[in-house]
Amino acid sequence: MRLGILGGTFNPIHFGHLRAAEEARERVNLDKVIFMPSGNPPLKIVDLIDAFHRYTMARLATASNVNFVVSDLEIRQTEKSYTVNTIQKLCGIYPEDKLFFVLGIDAFLDIPNWWQPDVLTGMVDFILVTRPGFNLMDVLKSPYVLSADDGLEQFRLKSGRKALVLQMTPMGISSTEIRRLLRESKSIKYLLPDKVEEYIYQHNLYHP
Ligand code: ATP
Ligand code: MG
Repeated sequence: MRLGILGGTFNPIHFGHLRAAEEARERVNLDKVIFMPSGNPPLKIVDLIDAFHRYTMARLATASNVNFVVSDLEIRQTEKSYTVNTIQKLCGIYPEDKLFFVLGIDAFLDIPNWWQPDVLTGMVDFILVTRPGFNLMDVLKSPYVLSADDGLEQFRLKSGRKALVLQMTPMGISSTEIRRLLRESKSIKYLLPDKVEEYIYQHNLYHP
């Protein structure tokens, strides 16, 4: 099987995440996309709500897609979760399968700040998803990128791995913006699935 892994805080999950996963699945012929909500970091990140709520919202959002699964691997553990460890575990769970790490350009450019980035960039191939506000050319500034092919459809990483580019339908949606709207008691309709919206109101999440 060909598996995509989409990590994130999903705080909350929205249509940008879902469409990125769906377009990656179709373009790269993935059998499944595994959504991997991050655990709770020991240092409090502003606005980050409990992992169980973020996981549950991801479950609600993906329930109607048979090709999507949500993993509780990171939210179950009490120690700090590092992407390197998560990918390593997934490689152990799926030894016969081809894994791809799916992430937006913003997240890819942030990798130098992650734990053991040079190990991480050598573990699997990547699928880089375009995102409004981020330029594909900027990917070349990453210290882990060696070169781009002509049409900017693929990057070669210094590790020997490749990063396929997915020019996805531009969706200027972010969790930060959704949290801001909620703080200001504004509508979040049509930015995320109805079931996620209902869950947020039911549990009074992201309240000032
Ligand atoms: P926040 O604003 O809290 O950072 P976010 O909207 O960026 O939230 P994350 O959970 O940080 O969502 O992102 C998870 C992954 O999804 C990242 O790889 C990110 O680049 C990608 N992603 C999020 N939103 C979009 C979008 N609108 N288009 C393309 N990729 C996206
Ligand atoms: Mg983000």
